[in-house]
Amino acid sequence: MTHDPAATDPVRPAPIPTDPVPTDPVHAELDRLAEKTAAQVIAWRRHLHRHPELSNREEGTARLIAGHLRALGLDEVRTGIAGHGVVGVLRGTAAGGDGRVAALRADTDALPVRDLCGEDFASRVVDADYPGGPFPVSHACGHDCHTAMLMGAATVLAGVRDRLPGTVVLVFQPAEEGPPVTETGGALAMVEAGAFVDPVPTMAFGMHVTPYPKGYVGYRVGNQYGASVLVRITLTGRQVHGSTPWQGVDPMPAAGAVLTGIGQLYRQVSAFDPVTVTIGHVEDVGRFNIIGETVTLWGTVRCAVESDMAEVRDRLRRLAEHSAAAYGATAEVDYLQPVPPVHNAEPWVTAALPTLRRVAGAERVTETGATLGYDDVSEFIARFGGLYVMLGVQDAVLDADGMPVPEEGGRGLVTNHHPRFYADDDTLVTGVRLHAHVAYDHLRGALLPAG
Ligand SMILES: [Zn+2]
Ligand SMILES: [Zn+2]
Repeated sequence: MTHDPAATDPVRPAPIPTDPVPTDPVHAELDRLAEKTAAQVIAWRRHLHRHPELSNREEGTARLIAGHLRALGLDEVRTGIAGHGVVGVLRGTAAGGDGRVAALRADTDALPVRDLCGEDFASRVVDADYPGGPFPVSHACGHDCHTAMLMGAATVLAGVRDRLPGTVVLVFQPAEEGPPVTETGGALAMVEAGAFVDPVPTMAFGMHVTPYPKGYVGYRVGNQYGASVLVRITLTGRQVHGSTPWQGVDPMPAAGAVLTGIGQLYRQVSAFDPVTVTIGHVEDVGRFNIIGETVTLWGTVRCAVESDMAEVRDRLRRLAEHSAAAYGATAEVDYLQPVPPVHNAEPWVTAALPTLRRVAGAERVTETGATLGYDDVSEFIARFGGLYVMLGVQDAVLDADGMPVPEEGGRGLVTNHHPRFYADDDTLVTGVRLHAHVAYDHLRGALLPAG
């Protein structure tokens, strides 16, 4: 996931509920067990942070998860799903519940980013064999936190198995950041591998750690994250000696024209529907005295409104092909790894708000703006219903407009994917409680969309 903490929309504080937040004795037990597991969750998080693994290489991470789930005595622990995916099934033994199944999801992969978080558990891992590498590897998106929190929630929920009127599916998903383009992986690959055929979830819940005040829960009705697709533009010319460019075709200026032209795409779609097109990697095969045959541009297209995606893709393709033609080169445009937007349907948000407020405190549950990040948890939420929230983990406060600003004397606001991204350990217990309360409330019929 990538996202922008300075969200595009103004933020409105959530209305404080006038009714007391409903509770029952199991909630107190969930909280007690979450507190009990908090130190272990932090230890797991630090271990995972020290040993990050890139998308589709989450072998050690999966082993740690599966070992823990097996030790809890879950009904099923399935491994090797779509690569290194792990699914644990916990069947509650309490009566009632109408056969509901809550799927809780954590993503497990890390990023090719240097770790400058400043902690003594910072990663020094380098993946020498990864396609395109070697890469330094770190949990610059915080998936170490997600994995540890869901492992903690597994402990908590297993501890109240006799009071769970339904089934919990613990989903540890690899390759959220996108596998190498020659491989498949991620949420859709887990669905296609049959991970949710039996039992079929009746809701899915996920969250992401984010540069937001510690312990705050942000949510958005509608698209929390945008639609995303990876773009690869291969510009092909004709290789020639660097001293005689006129005897060949140089694809480099064509690549430059495409990069510059992308800035005009924004003016071709409504300014009221945010879109970004980013080229984050340029791959060239020439050298100082050789005009190479090809230049490949790798990037990402994000649209806040999914229906804009087809149009932006067409326009980018046209721009690339015609810009290349102007220089005598050709362009091939490929779109890979499409991910639908994370959509929080209003009835699910309304149903979940009492739970979120009970866990975080009503004053810490706030509506956030949309971002152009993505998260392929959307594949689960779109199929099974449910919702996705943001969990604040940084030294921040909200200003008068509800926007996060750095807390005085703190470590500042650092976006996910930045080498200095950090997450406060002490907040992780809130994530454990969110998972546990959401699952329990859904199973007992208190967290269900109306209608
Ligand atoms: Zn990310
Ligand atoms: Zn992420």
